[in-house]
Amino acid sequence: MKDTAQQIVDRDQKNYLPVFNRYNLVVERGEGPYVYSVDGDKYIDFLGGIAVNVLGHNYKPLVDAIAAQAARVIHISNLYYTQPQADAASKLVKLSGLDRAFFANSGAEANEGAIKIARKFAHSIAPDKSQIITAWDSFHGRTLATLTATGQPKYHKGFEPLPAGFDYVHYNDIEELERLMSDKTCAVMLETIQGEGGVYPPKDDYLKRVRELCDRYQALLILDEIQAGIGRSGKFFAYENYGVKPDIVTLAKGLAGGVPIGAFIVTEEVAQAFKPGDHGTTFGGNPLACAAANVVLDTVPEQKFLDHVVEIGNYFKGRLLDLQQKYPTLITEVRGKGLLLGAELSTDNKKTGVEIVADCMKRGAIINCTVGKVLRFVPPLIIEKTHVDEVIDVLDAVLAQSL
Ligand SMILES: *Cc1c(COP(=O)(O)O)cnc(C)c1O
Repeated sequence: MKDTAQQIVDRDQKNYLPVFNRYNLVVERGEGPYVYSVDGDKYIDFLGGIAVNVLGHNYKPLVDAIAAQAARVIHISNLYYTQPQADAASKLVKLSGLDRAFFANSGAEANEGAIKIARKFAHSIAPDKSQIITAWDSFHGRTLATLTATGQPKYHKGFEPLPAGFDYVHYNDIEELERLMSDKTCAVMLETIQGEGGVYPPKDDYLKRVRELCDRYQALLILDEIQAGIGRSGKFFAYENYGVKPDIVTLAKGLAGGVPIGAFIVTEEVAQAFKPGDHGTTFGGNPLACAAANVVLDTVPEQKFLDHVVEIGNYFKGRLLDLQQKYPTLITEVRGKGLLLGAELSTDNKKTGVEIVADCMKRGAIINCTVGKVLRFVPPLIIEKTHVDEVIDVLDAVLAQSL
């Protein structure tokens, strides 16, 4: 006997750690950009598992590759080689123009590894070259080092003492960064486009100037593309939009289309800072996760696929701007690139962002609100214009009731 939705909710609430504010929806399956509840209700999914399901749900080549690999070998540990891992690593190296990849199991772990290798590298130059500069409103993960890198005090509270050596600057403020940097700076770590913090793309030549400062002080530029990478910006790596190349880039979320994975990719010079034993993982880069990643890495970088993201992203942004024109007192700004889009809500909205998201769900659309006031859209990259229209219609109806 299958449990009812309510039985599932009740049992999970009783037994699961109470760290998530969940919506009252029990998902059973998905198909393309749609998900279905256990009660058979259909939703259009413009959250995509938080920027994870880049190929949508139940994408046949992905499902087939996972099933085929599971029947061969799921896991073998990193004491041995497998072809899926060798394939995935060489694809990432080729796409990034960097030299060596490492696979972890999540975004936080990818960033944790990036921080570790940056420290080891910088300490080989000078023992006090430890400072890591990150941005306010950033998000880099939930491990102790990555939550410290996350420039949002609410994530720090109660977990002190935090790892030392982290400083923060305002994203897009190059003068503030310049004042803070010195020969003691080990790395500057930024999201190429800020996601969780409210969808903020870099201004003009900001990242180029960050790159110049890093070069001046022999500091590493770490770009966190866990959310903005994997084609979401319209380029495979978001940094390709801004004419910069990092020393280290981190990926996760969309990299294996929904199978847990993380990665950091580095230059040869940085790679040499790690010797056998300096880092490791039991699960990371296992053949199952890499077989899934190989499907994403064979699909998303195709020019036709990326052109589609640009086209749909522009169309979606245009339709959000139309909504802003229609509801100028409700939406203050539309921002973002490709299919990482945000619509900032004004404070004199009758409804909160969370209520607007809940109203959209009642009308069959899954969207998200970040930092309490920015509607964030990170749908599967395979959506079509008709799917955008569907979500815009729902938003239009919900906003009409928020006046
Ligand atoms: C989601 C996210 C992370 C953390 O990834 P997890 O897999 O949840 O650990 C880190 N950085 C950015 C930019 C993210 O969006």
